[in-house]
Amino acid sequence: MSVLKSFIAGEWLGETPARPLPSAINGDIVAHTHQEPIDFAKAVEYGRTTGVKNLLAMDFQERALALKAMALYLQEHKQELYALSHHTGATKRDSAIDIDGGFGTLFSYASMGRRELPSGNVVHEGPVMPLGKENHFAGTHILVPRGGVAVHINAFNFPVWGMLEKFAPTFLAGMPCIVKPATATSYVTEAAVRLMQASGALPEGALQLIIGGTGDLLDHLREQDVVTFTGSASTALKLRSHPNILARSIPFNAEADSLNCAILAPDVTPDHEEFDLFIKEVVREMTVKAGQKCTAVRRILVPTAQLEAVADRLKQQLSKVVAGDPAVDGVRMGALASLDQCADVKAAIDRLKESCECLLGGTGDFQPLGDGCDRGAFLEPHLLLCRNPEQEGGAHDIEAFGPVATLMPYDTLEQAVAIAAKGKGSLVTTLSTRDPATAGQLVPMLAAYHGRLHVLDAQAAKESTGHGSPLPMLKHGGPGRAGGGEELGGIRAVCHYLQRTAVQGSPTMLAAITGEYVRGAKVIETEVHPFRRYFEDLQINESLLTHRRTVTEADIVNFGCLSGDHFYMHFDEIAARNSQFRERIAHGYFVLSAAAGLFVSPGEGPVLANYGLDNLRFITPVPIGDTIQARLTCKRKIDQGRTSPDGHPQGVVVWDVEVRNQKDELVASYDILTLVAKRPQ
Ligand code: NDP
Repeated sequence: MSVLKSFIAGEWLGETPARPLPSAINGDIVAHTHQEPIDFAKAVEYGRTTGVKNLLAMDFQERALALKAMALYLQEHKQELYALSHHTGATKRDSAIDIDGGFGTLFSYASMGRRELPSGNVVHEGPVMPLGKENHFAGTHILVPRGGVAVHINAFNFPVWGMLEKFAPTFLAGMPCIVKPATATSYVTEAAVRLMQASGALPEGALQLIIGGTGDLLDHLREQDVVTFTGSASTALKLRSHPNILARSIPFNAEADSLNCAILAPDVTPDHEEFDLFIKEVVREMTVKAGQKCTAVRRILVPTAQLEAVADRLKQQLSKVVAGDPAVDGVRMGALASLDQCADVKAAIDRLKESCECLLGGTGDFQPLGDGCDRGAFLEPHLLLCRNPEQEGGAHDIEAFGPVATLMPYDTLEQAVAIAAKGKGSLVTTLSTRDPATAGQLVPMLAAYHGRLHVLDAQAAKESTGHGSPLPMLKHGGPGRAGGGEELGGIRAVCHYLQRTAVQGSPTMLAAITGEYVRGAKVIETEVHPFRRYFEDLQINESLLTHRRTVTEADIVNFGCLSGDHFYMHFDEIAARNSQFRERIAHGYFVLSAAAGLFVSPGEGPVLANYGLDNLRFITPVPIGDTIQARLTCKRKIDQGRTSPDGHPQGVVVWDVEVRNQKDELVASYDILTLVAKRPQ
């Protein structure tokens, strides 16, 4: 008899069966939870000591590499998860969203971490702001690991993605996770955690798993810890108002149920491609994962003139959806996660029917396809109609977490916005329109009530990732009823698990703290040109003040001829005199090129490539006769563990460049990005 185990304080725990977990397809028992109690105080302490220590022995870049290694390992072993995922009622496509979607999130965070996070464990969130007139005192922000544990409580509908989309940014941030999956589908999460452990990429203490309840876990949390939650609004309320969470101001991020809309704009009629796209999107969102997605479409807003056409097309498409055992050919929709869930959804439909008509479903002649499916948690698609959507409650309040959605007519755009807002805050809405002016008007009005807005037209449809798919680089989470939380959204999510602190001090101190050169800090000048140093030997603040160069008319003429840029400000004496500068000035790009000529060390050396500029500003004009000088300073070093195409290790070095004139005025300012070779071994 298979008993799931918790993974606590580095050991698998659980021998004695407790609650049986039935397959959603046929009711057969897939696994049991375990009876052995978990010592939550020990789990939290272990995370805070062993977990934090091991995670912070690595830096952001090393953790990003570990994330990638873990994702590669998981991908190689994904069939083990697919086999289990089937029992949750998932079709192959549903499993792919959960399993491959989860791995994709790991890969995304690995690559975002490598691109956007520094070496070390301090993120400098600039810019540095001078706080005095002479730049002796300045301020900036840093983000540092919190030193606590993150407790992630997840919903039953995404046993893999739900864990990984929270784990990836937490891991990058250097925070150990204690994951508590929803019990009903925890057998898939347990298998995923086993694979993560087996990958060898997970430092000891970085991940613990709870099978079953959380007991007194929340009582043991402290100020440095974090709790995230996905599930029902009622559980979110209960957990976020836990006395210890409140008393210690422990950050609590919630993603709860949401009554998401799809809105058909008035400019779209049945003869437009956007009409078909709208129908397809709604049908997909109602039936993927049998409608058990926090982002699924629950309310369908259509112009009154199109109500009948939309209802007819939806009924036609939804009645073609074959539900049953996903292993059977032709099945397009699987089961709900459990019989309990099925009963909950049926009860919600009954409550919806108090204010809505039922257009499709619930006739009693539904038969899921496949052996034993009469014991499974199947439900056919239900389409309801609310004729008076301006009334509160009903479909604006009741979330039937299954293949269920309610049609609502509207007459004006303002009315559509008001109806959408009655959901009291949603994760996502799709707007189907052909008219950019409608999108321009409606989207800003809808945005206040939504975490994400997906505008669907024929052009977007060619590549759209769909209404229901949260993406690692875009924010997931919505206001109000949707929980008021934020997940994903690129590196923002990593920042949720770091402490942001304002720091004030002299530029020299700020440079030492942030690990980045700050203008005004004491520079290091040596006999050796900084371009002649290998990556390891370069120090932050290492600097070169160049010789000077006086800009001549010949420079401007030559640069104009070479580049083809004969803009009047450089070549037309009269026009330039009438301009705000009152005289001809050098091209900004000439100044940039001349500065490179001043600071570059031309011989072969460890600087391998210049791959771009950041933050370029031309600040003071350079007229003929002005004399410029450049300062090049090593600003930031990032060791991404890269090698050149021929296998030589290298790192990224960002250089601060200031170009000044004879009056010491800043003429141009920018960062140069280079690749610098490491010392030959
Ligand atoms: P719950 O809110 O009951 O459960 C969500 C998670 O919280 C599960 O891991 C659950 O564990 C855990 N949990 C429940 N009570 C406690 C507690 N007192 N202390 C600590 N953890 C707790 O949601 P359900 O999974 O039962 O789903 C109910 C409804 O929630 C759905 O029908 C749907 O309406 C909505 N929902 C919304 C989702 C979203 O993404 N927005 C996702 C899933 C559901 P356990 O499983 O062990 O009870």
